[in-house]
Amino acid sequence: MTERFDVVVIGAGPAGYVAAIRAAQLGLKVACVDQWLDIKNEPALGGTCLNVGCIPSKALLESSELYAHLRDRIAIHGVRVEGARLDVPAMMVHKDQVVRELTRGIAALFKANGVTWMPGRGKLLRERSVEVTGHDGKTEVLQAGHVILASGSTPVELKAAPLTAGLIVDSAGALAFDEVPKRLGVIGAGVIGLELGSVWRRLGAEVILLEAQEQFLTMADEQVAKEALRQFSAQGLDIRLGARVLAAEARDGSVRVRYQDGNGEHTEQVDRLIVAVGRRPNTQGLAAEEAGLLLDEWGFIHVDEQCRTNLPGVYAVGDAVRGPMLAHKGMEEGVMAAELIAGGTAHVNYETVPAVIYTLPEIAWAGKTEQDLRRAGTPYRAGVFPFAASGRARALGDASGFVKLLADTATDRIVGAHLIGPRVSELIAQAVLAMEFGASAEDIALTMFPHPTLSEALHEAALAVHGRAIHVAQRKLGV
Ligand code: FAD
Ligand code: NAD
Repeated sequence: MTERFDVVVIGAGPAGYVAAIRAAQLGLKVACVDQWLDIKNEPALGGTCLNVGCIPSKALLESSELYAHLRDRIAIHGVRVEGARLDVPAMMVHKDQVVRELTRGIAALFKANGVTWMPGRGKLLRERSVEVTGHDGKTEVLQAGHVILASGSTPVELKAAPLTAGLIVDSAGALAFDEVPKRLGVIGAGVIGLELGSVWRRLGAEVILLEAQEQFLTMADEQVAKEALRQFSAQGLDIRLGARVLAAEARDGSVRVRYQDGNGEHTEQVDRLIVAVGRRPNTQGLAAEEAGLLLDEWGFIHVDEQCRTNLPGVYAVGDAVRGPMLAHKGMEEGVMAAELIAGGTAHVNYETVPAVIYTLPEIAWAGKTEQDLRRAGTPYRAGVFPFAASGRARALGDASGFVKLLADTATDRIVGAHLIGPRVSELIAQAVLAMEFGASAEDIALTMFPHPTLSEALHEAALAVHGRAIHVAQRKLGV
């Protein structure tokens, strides 16, 4: 017998599991199909983000930073630590435990909300039926009032650098090294390359990043990218721009990488190589031919602003559709799809999706960059406040970087926020909130911030938009 659900969600990453929970909260009968198997070959919820993405990478970033802090920086606080030793297997146990607790937490939330979890592979057939093939190979067909496709993404592979167990690895492999490689190569100095490169650099590896583009972090504000490159280079991350990898070959327990840049061809010998050159949508075989699901030329599911596909009653959310491949963007789309299915109104503001790189310094931004505004010919004012002038940052012993706010000259509305420095992953949400409420630089300037906190840098940057920051010398703007 075909079981009927109001909503069937395919994929239980952050986009899919959030959609399933919200739909169930709204009183709908929901099933969520997911094919993920964890390291013990057991079904696990949470998708890429919880199993091999956001969460394990942040666990290792935190652990490695604690170690580097003890080793390199704690002495400035008058604390001397002797005999601190690294225990990579214990670090991995901690990471795996965090992952296990959180994935089980999603299972508990499904139970509490009455979402039916169906481990296995889902395939969209015609007329909103979904075929589910369990891990035992048995199939069943579900009939759905609505379907939400949330199949996520997988790492892009490079023909020139074929994955080779333990030696040439993707991001998941780089989260599970059993020891610190002496020399580590990374192809791609994007978000994953920088975060995972930082983890292993902090733990003692010599790290070389080969980046195809001539410019560093092109998606970030230019001033932030410049400061980041300066600081990462000072930490010993060897970032080589304009480097095109020609071939990588694993032999006798190490990897030989051949690449080309403006100065000709070069070869590097590394112990491990991470390939981190982007991700692609996981949509192959997701829908049967007869379903007629429209994909774009890169394999993303074609959707409108409200995540509707070309098929009636079928939505698609998260990494499998256009827009930044970020967990929180997928979650908000999941909520939107659930609300719309339940007959509500909903939208996602794609203008204010925050981006964070969890390195040291952290990097965070939302909205337009200076180069975006220049290109569009939009008159703007920039207010910058350096953490060097922040009492709290000084007390932390980490006063590098700055906060920059960009305000439209005509309206004074904040249109961009660009932060690099201590704990800015937490500060960016304040700027996003301000942008969501249509706040002007003056609105933020008139708000009282607690002293001494890092958040004061945001306040001072807003004051600086009008040349009136207190704790840093200002040039007169004549306003
Ligand atoms: P996914 O999380 O990829 O989940 C899709 C799920 O669908 C998977 O479980 C998959 O097995 C399942 N699936 C696919 N096809 C089928 C099918 N046919 N049938 C059944 N199941 C199927 N983002 C951030 O915002 N912050 C971060 O700090 C961050 N760090 C990251 C670190 C790393 C190393 C990586 C790789 C990614 C990181 N990301 C981060 C990106 C983030 O993980 C993704 O944007 C997010 O997971 C996308 O969510 P999703 O639900 O769309 O897809
Ligand atoms: P990315 O797009 O951030 O970076 C990939 C980099 O590889 C780019 O700089 C690109 O120019 C370079 N590249 C591409 N082909 C190359 C080649 N042949 N040789 C050398 N360099 C090459 O992608 P990523 O780092 O793989 O991350 C994938 C996605 O996961 C990102 O889109 C990001 O949104 C998401 N993610 C987010 C976070 C976070 O939010 N903190 C962390 C990790 C991943």
